Amino acid sequence: MSECIFCKIAQGEIPAQIAYENDVVVAFHDITPQAPVHLLIIPKKHISSAMDLNTEDTKTIIPEIFNAITGLAKDLGLKDGFRIVNNCGKDGGQTIGHLHFHLLGGRGLQWPPG
Ligand code: AMP
Ligand code: ZN
Repeated sequence: MSECIFCKIAQGEIPAQIAYENDVVVAFHDITPQAPVHLLIIPKKHISSAMDLNTEDTKTIIPEIFNAITGLAKDLGLKDGFRIVNNCGKDGGQTIGHLHFHLLGGRGLQWPPG
């Protein structure tokens, strides 16, 4: 059985505040929000990171993720903008080994990152 926490969220085995779900992706609220809106959008399929996407995933799963992100941003009224973040690998600061995109919004965000 997978020990991946995000697989468990995708399968409903551990609780999360789900904001959106379809056959391919799940979006849920980050447990430690860094902005008034902080969602994580993940594929239901276990993919460890953006470095592990294959060509088929890139054609099928990534569009679903971006459709979910843009739909949620609209539904949540983020009309002044938002940020999409994918931390990838050790140098990218990735801490959970299941591909996820952060959707951050609801305040002005700083740049550059640390
Ligand atoms: P990253 O550093 O890009 O790998 O982001 C992982 C994110 O997952 C962090 O923002 C954590 O706060 C978040 N996180 C970890 N565990 C959970 C959980 N059980 N439910 C929701 N978010 C989580
Ligand atoms: Zn997983």
